[in-house]
Amino acid sequence: MHYQPKRDLLQNRIILVTGASDGIGREAALTYARYGARLILLGRNQHKLQATAEQINQISPIQPHIFTLDLLTASPAQCHQLAQEISQLVPRLDGVLHNAGILGEIAPMIEQTPAVWAEVIQVNVNATFMLTQALLPLLLQSDAGSLVFTSSSVGRQGRAGWGAYSVSKFATEGMMQVLADEYRQRNLRVNCINPGGTRTDMRASAFPTEDPMKLKTPHDIMPLYLWLMGDDSRRKTGMSFDAQPNRKPGIAE
Ligand code: NDP
Repeated sequence: MHYQPKRDLLQNRIILVTGASDGIGREAALTYARYGARLILLGRNQHKLQATAEQINQISPIQPHIFTLDLLTASPAQCHQLAQEISQLVPRLDGVLHNAGILGEIAPMIEQTPAVWAEVIQVNVNATFMLTQALLPLLLQSDAGSLVFTSSSVGRQGRAGWGAYSVSKFATEGMMQVLADEYRQRNLRVNCINPGGTRTDMRASAFPTEDPMKLKTPHDIMPLYLWLMGDDSRRKTGMSFDAQPNRKPGIAE
């Protein structure tokens, strides 16, 4: 994507990123901060989130807020408690990037371990839903809120061996479409990003034999992440975007 955002694209915007401790989420948090946003960093590992916050402090005068929540065990009550704590710090959320996710097992359906299946659905779908439900009132306080979910090519076309992960990403696309339709008349747009194969730990565990140097980095795919959080995408809702539109799914060659 060729996109030249204005340097102040996200000035006065308050954006929450889940999975801000590593990979694409960490890069998105840094990028949003660089373009002027106030960040709320969410993850399960306080130490890693603190490291992201320190990196933000080197590029932005606006101190980020850190919240820890393990999505594997998150309950609706914990999500509402989190929203309550956030509302004591900020008056609204202008953006939420649901980025945290887990891969589960790469194995044929017949071999998928039910307990691992349940974990993938809990983190990628149920916790994402619970968090969204709790954060919606804050998002609706924004004059142009942007709710972004993270999908995958296997969330649009099933692929052998991708089991629970693929099913969770289909569910994510569905959640996005339902919410987009529900808020079509309001100041809230809801969309998905499919990052495409990107050089992170998750990618390496999915494709251990792949040469990571053949993949785009999280930094390379940030133009779409910026565009969806800024005013230039204001009228877009209910859509699923590719951060690497010309990339064919599967192992990098
Ligand atoms: P990483 O594994 O590098 O990062 C995942 C992030 O999610 C980390 O911050 C991790 O926290 C967090 N996370 C995992 N489990 C939990 C949990 N139980 N509670 C809270 N946070 C949790 O993955 P990527 O950056 O590669 O992936 C980001 C998103 O992009 C995911 O939704 C993934 O499905 C999607 N995606 C990625 C692609 C790729 O090629 N990389 C391709 C298509 C989609 P911690 O640091 O503590 O581990």
